[in-house]
Amino acid sequence: MNSEYKHIVIIGAGFAGLFAAKKLSGRNVRVTIIDRNNYHTFNPLLYQVGAAEIEPDQIAYPVRTFIRKKANIDFLMANVEKINFKKDTVVTDRGDIKYDFLIFSPGSSSGYFGIKGAENNSTTLKSLDDALRLRNHILRMFERASKCDDPSERDKCLTFVIVGGGPTGVEFAGAFAEFVNGPLRKDYPHIDSHEVRICLVDAAGQLLGAYSPKSAEYAKRKLEKMNVAVSLNRTVKEVKPGEIILGDGERLKSHTILWTAGVSGVAIKSDIKIADRKDARVTVDEYLRPGGCDNVFICGDMAYLEQSGKPLPMNAPVATQQGIHSAINILRLINGKTLKPFRYGDRGSMVTIGRNSAITKAAGFEFRGFIAWVLWLFIHIFYLIGFRNKILVMISWFRDYLFFERSGKMIIPSE
Ligand SMILES: Cc1cc2nc3c(=O)[nH]c(=O)nc-3n(C[C@H](O)[C@H](O)[C@H](O)COP(=O)(O)OP(=O)(O)OC[C@H]3O[C@@H](n4cnc5c(N)ncnc54)[C@H](O)[C@@H]3O)c2cc1C
Repeated sequence: MNSEYKHIVIIGAGFAGLFAAKKLSGRNVRVTIIDRNNYHTFNPLLYQVGAAEIEPDQIAYPVRTFIRKKANIDFLMANVEKINFKKDTVVTDRGDIKYDFLIFSPGSSSGYFGIKGAENNSTTLKSLDDALRLRNHILRMFERASKCDDPSERDKCLTFVIVGGGPTGVEFAGAFAEFVNGPLRKDYPHIDSHEVRICLVDAAGQLLGAYSPKSAEYAKRKLEKMNVAVSLNRTVKEVKPGEIILGDGERLKSHTILWTAGVSGVAIKSDIKIADRKDARVTVDEYLRPGGCDNVFICGDMAYLEQSGKPLPMNAPVATQQGIHSAINILRLINGKTLKPFRYGDRGSMVTIGRNSAITKAAGFEFRGFIAWVLWLFIHIFYLIGFRNKILVMISWFRDYLFFERSGKMIIPSE
């Protein structure tokens, strides 16, 4: 690599980071991608790993394979600990890295709204590790319950509480209910599927706040048909080990409390305080830069930007478009051109609620049902990175659809 070229450091090999790198491939710049994992994760299918529908490696892609033929791009597997914006340096657990331009796209973490005990006593679904841990935990709960004679302990093992009725909560609840009603029912004949309680709790008056009340009602109806108890207008007051206390005083005893209710930025130390919002995200200008740092671009979930009076959603298309846009703007700056403002091109969103049911929203319209579900399948396969992953996920889905069977029922690793 030509050391005369400007050095662009990308923090995070997620949607924003990877697509920024792709845009910079073959250009007269040096690029270093830094990520704590040596793979990219396709987050939209994380819930399926948690529900044992697909294997973890089917939604991950090695960064080094991605950059194999991209000679100007390097990778550093490291944890970013601090950014010294004044010295243009990223501090990692594997040393300091100088940059000329920085693309900062570390994604997001769970938000707990200051609810007592929520962070320490619940599990979350933000990474491949989380998804695998959740799957292992669910299987352990079934193993434990199958040999448990104490009714209250058995009940705690077989009660699963999901907090948050957004897309992640709804999609996981649907996939998990199908897991319980199909493969687990066959594998654990001594556990009556009616003993298993899946509770989905949300503080709002409807599920899926970004969709219409009609679609929300459709999702609720579908989940209830699968034996998911949907509790709306219910706040969470406190989470204790093995127990969740709701705002009205009701206590649900459970060894599994999955938290999908809130999202916030990733807290990384820096010499200039750029995270100006309560949720630890950073307000950026129309060029995706934080105030006071002209060579820094913030993309994806970490960036807060309003367009047409509304905040942009925290989703994969926004992150992808912002990553590409930042790369283009950095190349323009290097070539002495002016920056172009970012405009998000909304191509819609979708959510699935178990087999044959999904909601698709595009161009102001929403449609529900089988066609929306088929569209959901094709779009997710299309965007999944890696030919092998596409094939293996399709095989897993096909097997599940035809035989009501799941592939990921082993507790691995058995820590
Ligand atoms: C369960 C789930 C389901 C989702 N479903 C959908 C969906 O159906 N459709 C949709 O459009 N969006 C969905 N999203 C949202 C979407 O995944 C995010 O909006 C998108 O991934 C954001 O891209 P990003 O590049 O900002 O961050 P990410 O893709 O999250 O990537 C961030 C990267 O930064 C790395 N990183 C973070 N901190 C550090 C550090 N300190 N040091 C080194 N590396 C670090 C991480 O390892 C990660 O690889 C979902 C998210 C989740 C969690």
